[in-house]
Amino acid sequence: MRVPGMITCFVSMIEYPSIHQTGNNTMAKPVIFSIDDDPSVLNSVERDLRAHYGGDYRILPINQGTLALEYLKKMEQRNETVALFLVDQRMPEMSGTEFLAEAIKTHPQAKRVLLTAYADTQAAIDSINEVRLDYYLIKPWHPPEERLYPILDELLEDWKAHVRLPYEGIRVAGTLWSLGSHQVKDFLTRHQIPYQWLDVEKDSAARALVEGVSAQTKLPVIFFPDGTSLIEPGLTELADKVGLQTRAALPFYDIVVIGSGPAGLAAAVYAGSEGYRCLVIEKAAPGGQAGSSPKIENYLGFPTGISGDDLTRRAVSQAKRFGVEILSAQEAVSVKVKDTYRIVGLSNGTEISCHAALVATGASFHTLKMPGADALTGAGIYYGAAYTEAINYKDRHVFVVGGANSAAQGAIYLSRFASRVTVLVRGHEPTASKYLVDAMNENEKIEILTDTDLLDVIGTNSLEQIVIKSGRNDEPQTLEAAALFVFIGVRPQSQIVAEVVKRSDKAYIYTGPDVMVDRKPPPGWTLDRDPLLLETSTPGIFAAGDVRYGTTHRVASAVGEGAIAYAMMKEYLKGL
Ligand SMILES: Cc1cc2nc3c(=O)[nH]c(=O)nc-3n(C[C@H](O)[C@H](O)[C@H](O)COP(=O)(O)OP(=O)(O)OC[C@H]3O[C@@H](n4cnc5c(N)ncnc54)[C@H](O)[C@@H]3O)c2cc1C
Repeated sequence: MRVPGMITCFVSMIEYPSIHQTGNNTMAKPVIFSIDDDPSVLNSVERDLRAHYGGDYRILPINQGTLALEYLKKMEQRNETVALFLVDQRMPEMSGTEFLAEAIKTHPQAKRVLLTAYADTQAAIDSINEVRLDYYLIKPWHPPEERLYPILDELLEDWKAHVRLPYEGIRVAGTLWSLGSHQVKDFLTRHQIPYQWLDVEKDSAARALVEGVSAQTKLPVIFFPDGTSLIEPGLTELADKVGLQTRAALPFYDIVVIGSGPAGLAAAVYAGSEGYRCLVIEKAAPGGQAGSSPKIENYLGFPTGISGDDLTRRAVSQAKRFGVEILSAQEAVSVKVKDTYRIVGLSNGTEISCHAALVATGASFHTLKMPGADALTGAGIYYGAAYTEAINYKDRHVFVVGGANSAAQGAIYLSRFASRVTVLVRGHEPTASKYLVDAMNENEKIEILTDTDLLDVIGTNSLEQIVIKSGRNDEPQTLEAAALFVFIGVRPQSQIVAEVVKRSDKAYIYTGPDVMVDRKPPPGWTLDRDPLLLETSTPGIFAAGDVRYGTTHRVASAVGEGAIAYAMMKEYLKGL
């Protein structure tokens, strides 16, 4: 039985954080907070957590939400990091959800798990949106090997993948207002390579560090743990340095996949699993658009959602496990046909041959057309990159342009850091899915301006103001803006096959039945069969995902099309 008067103050028994040395840095272990008012449950959770995570994390049991909030403030001053909150929902003076709503204001990156009784399941489901809950665990959680550790392991892996700990790893020194710095940060983030950001405008030690290696003020400078550095590197040079594969191991593959979004990775997983020599070529980082999604909540099997980088990490390791090679920072620039070979040209001048090629190059956002927008790209204007840059806009007022799912997700993610997020929607209402619109409406930090046009962007070295026109009769308004995150329109990236396959007037690639003309294969078609499903107007070149005519712009359909495209390529290879 719970007796409020008998609650003991567990926090008084907490020791000062244990410290261990890493290189020259002194680093406190990240903290796993467990909060429950019931001493027996708290002890039991603590015992299980300590047994499995005690080596790498400091386990902090506290029996009151308010006390835990006070303690969190102290931790912030000491620069300590919280990895995960495991909180009981039903507590007398503050519910688990209420606690999380407060706690995430100062620790937005920490993972959130609610411990609930079966009767509280609805409260837990409601709080998925309210506090962006990562998981709810129904009591009892025993045996922990089956019901607790696998879940927390995944969450902590995900947390580790993009939290910035004070450690001696890669350091990127630059200014917030440079495209080069943004691209390097985005590249490392998207490859889930941890780094420390050093702002040379704010940090004199960082400035001195840069001046130590470069007489000129070329930025960014990247410092590696082995003592070397790269000054203003290209992405391929950076990829080489951090150990990513940038060159194909073979001159010929059965299947070459261009693009490593969900469609390309799905095809590669199937091709690799069935023993085909398969190469994936990616111009930026694996994951595609989905990789930039803070949380995909409508993908089957993930009721609390899955972040794009988590999904990507799983898919990439699955593909590699099946022997697929994935090239990073290598752009395919052409696809040619020679007899039964399909030859993919890369921007570095090399060529790779294969029997079947899959174009899974997806789509990219439209860029802003107003004068000055290009110069401010990476200096306050970002395309899609909420995930990479959000943390730099803590307590600032930022804007999102667009009303679809990607914009809504961006706004919700940004609201974890920014003081205010204004979403500019051209139409009468956002077109995002209902669950996202509801989440935006319920979020106090987010305001949605409908019937609003972005007219101009203003700034010298970085974005300072934007000009909008909101409502039918209003005069244009000039607003102070720390950053503008653009999520408008999507343009298929099909230029590399413009010469060899039929495309729609909006540049989507036709496949299967859409290639047919008057129920006959298109002119130039050389085979005595019709094009296969997802085959383009050129035999042996296939297309899947957002670049394909008829796409639905969804992760699940891209994955499904990737799987089907593989089956069709297999069919094609058999016929050679
Ligand atoms: C922020 C955001 C949030 C989203 N959220 C959701 C969601 O919650 N649910 C949902 O169902 N959908 C969501 N979507 C849509 C979904 O992500 C896309 O439909 C899906 O990623 C399409 O997959 P794809 O593989 O066809 O293409 P993409 O994901 O676009 O991947 C294409 C890849 O090809 C690469 N590439 C392009 N050209 C070349 C070239 N010449 N050489 C080498 N590589 C090249 C690109 O760099 C990219 O990595 C979201 C999209 C965004 C942007």
